[in-house]
Amino acid sequence: MDYKQTTTEVILIGAGVVSATLGTLLNKLQPDWHITVFEKLDTAGKESSNEWNNAGTGHAALCELNYTAEKQDGSIDISKAVKINEQFQVSRQFWSYLVNTNDLTSPREFIRPLPHMSFVYGEKNVAFLKKRFEALSNHPHFQGMEFSDDPERLAEWMPLMMQGRSSEETVAATKAEQGTDVNFGELTRQLLDSLGQQNNVDIHYNHTVDDINQLENGDWEVKVQNAEEHRLEEHTADFVFIGAGGGALPLLQKTGIPESRHIGGFPISGEFLVCRNPEVVEQHHAKVYGKEREGAPSKSIPHLDRRHIKGENTLLYGPFAGFTPKFLKTGSHMDLLNSVKPNNAFTMLAAGVKNTTLIKYLAKQLRMSKEQRMEELRHFVPNAKSEDWDMLVAGQRVQLIEDTEAGGRGALQFGTKLIHADDQSLAALLGESPGASVSASIMLEVLERCFPDHLEAWKPKIKEMIPSYGESLENNPKLLDNIHASSANALGLAVSTT
Ligand SMILES: Cc1cc2nc3c(=O)[nH]c(=O)nc-3n(C[C@H](O)[C@H](O)[C@H](O)COP(=O)(O)OP(=O)(O)OC[C@H]3O[C@@H](n4cnc5c(N)ncnc54)[C@H](O)[C@@H]3O)c2cc1C
Repeated sequence: MDYKQTTTEVILIGAGVVSATLGTLLNKLQPDWHITVFEKLDTAGKESSNEWNNAGTGHAALCELNYTAEKQDGSIDISKAVKINEQFQVSRQFWSYLVNTNDLTSPREFIRPLPHMSFVYGEKNVAFLKKRFEALSNHPHFQGMEFSDDPERLAEWMPLMMQGRSSEETVAATKAEQGTDVNFGELTRQLLDSLGQQNNVDIHYNHTVDDINQLENGDWEVKVQNAEEHRLEEHTADFVFIGAGGGALPLLQKTGIPESRHIGGFPISGEFLVCRNPEVVEQHHAKVYGKEREGAPSKSIPHLDRRHIKGENTLLYGPFAGFTPKFLKTGSHMDLLNSVKPNNAFTMLAAGVKNTTLIKYLAKQLRMSKEQRMEELRHFVPNAKSEDWDMLVAGQRVQLIEDTEAGGRGALQFGTKLIHADDQSLAALLGESPGASVSASIMLEVLERCFPDHLEAWKPKIKEMIPSYGESLENNPKLLDNIHASSANALGLAVSTT
């Protein structure tokens, strides 16, 4: 084997939406820095960011009931929903800026307007939905949201879901017209295509990062298997970002930084039912989220989505959870076992003991036949016919396990977590949803935490790209209206599409 060595300012590991976003931000802010991207697969956006591996929801908390918890006193806590909506507005501004600079072309290929709805049945759930609607609908972020428990109105909003339903059934829904369907795979490819054309950027596919070590001078040495030229390479950088999706945890563990200890990951795979029959597809023009199934993790809420992918309209229903010990769809069956280290063995063990309900739920989901899954779908689409629906294996999520004050040892976390080295020379993103939708705001956090000395100089450019940067949109409805209108214009979201 030959050897190759290079030195660069920034190394990004992984060519998913997260690294693509950070690379683009850094290149805009500091075009003289050399950025090198290593991706183990042959193109960008093939793992979780791929259009068929996630649900493509532009998460803005318009329909996801798990972002609005009911408090003990019966009131609804909307703080998480407001935060996620603010983060999605950051993504919209950043993507709009990139469309206006021609870094992103054809926004219709990666984002489309699609109403977001929440749908519930049963009196208790209907009462919850009404309270949630009352708590949200006066807030600037959720203006225009509608509520209905009138079957005729609901049949206009979601005809497919109301056909065959008994008129006795207690059902209700909310509708937010400003929802979106996002093709994160297309977005990732467009971002990396554009980034790859910039000076000072090299993107290497079929390059797997095997090891990461900090040198005495504080730089990082990254060992890479180059599958194209069958050689081992060593590359050094001042700053490394591990944007390897499910592969981030094993790489972070290899760095040996204290922040990589006492944490673990639990892989959960996702499956959807997909319908390609145009007669059925044409009857549903929304993303409709329900309440979580009993015993299910709160992220695993069922939803029925119209998708538009490469010119084809389909419906997706799911996700159904499953288990494989792989951390990536293209990973190894040894991933979970290999991630257990002396420093996290007790954390992992505690997580296993604590989460027996989740494990039982996963085992039950795994055993479900297609017909049992169809029965679940029929809660949403009473007349669904098995011959119209096929199973689709989506991406892997690796839930973060850590010891926390609130959750104790081995607490399972359902969100994204940014981890960075104390000396700010390395960062990694762990966890999952709503990762892709909020990638711009999380990557701004990387800049704030890891490049504090550059931030003041970068601020004017950040404000040019993201006018709301540093401001609360919640407290500035005029700015919210302005950026909503300008981003709708740039991204083509004001135009109704089918
Ligand atoms: C079933 C499911 C549904 C989801 N639905 C939504 C949704 O509706 N909306 C939403 O916003 N988010 C959703 N998500 C989450 C979203 O898909 C992820 O948050 C996002 O795609 C993560 O992007 P990433 O760049 O971190 O990871 P990825 O897209 O997985 O990219 C990581 C890349 O790193 C590469 N890599 C890994 N290890 C190495 C290595 N050692 N060397 C080199 N390269 C490496 C991988 O090949 C991969 O290309 C969903 C996820 C799943 C699984």
